[in-house]
Amino acid sequence: MKRKATLCDPDLGVIELPEAPASPEYWNKMRKRIRERLMRTRLWKEGSRHPCPECGARTFIGSDEVTQEFRRGQRIIVMRNLAGARCASCGFQMLEPREHLHIDDELEILTAVDHDVGVSRVGRGTLGTYWPKGLQRELRLRPGTRLRVQVLSPSSALLEVRPGRMRRRRQGSKSRSG
Ligand SMILES: [Zn+2]
Repeated sequence: MKRKATLCDPDLGVIELPEAPASPEYWNKMRKRIRERLMRTRLWKEGSRHPCPECGARTFIGSDEVTQEFRRGQRIIVMRNLAGARCASCGFQMLEPREHLHIDDELEILTAVDHDVGVSRVGRGTLGTYWPKGLQRELRLRPGTRLRVQVLSPSSALLEVRPGRMRRRRQGSKSRSG
């Protein structure tokens, strides 16, 4: 391990110097190392039995088919077939550390912050929406992308992005083409 830097002061003797703040490269390296170690870790092999951390019964069984719900704001995301262990007696369950790594990545994608886009008038009786750059990237929007809007209620709708050219209707709805 690294030895601590010291300073020899004629009056005060040996003074231990505080460590220099670690560089971003150092932290990146450490993060990568921890990640690699977690990826190799398997705490509960499939089918193996362990004492349950919750109820103590020896029915905490390793499984590759753990289902877990994650609540993010108003959304509930259900993930299946996760590696972990589940107690057959009380239902308590835990996930393998490596699953948390994937989940964190996936949840970040699935629950990217909501965006506000404004609606403005772009012509007589025509409304348009300007998509911010970040959203364009995230949804891979480009001119010609088709958006399917499924109206759920007067105040909510589902948007499905369908790549490809927009087919022009013969009776031309006057949508702005970019
Ligand atoms: Zn239990």
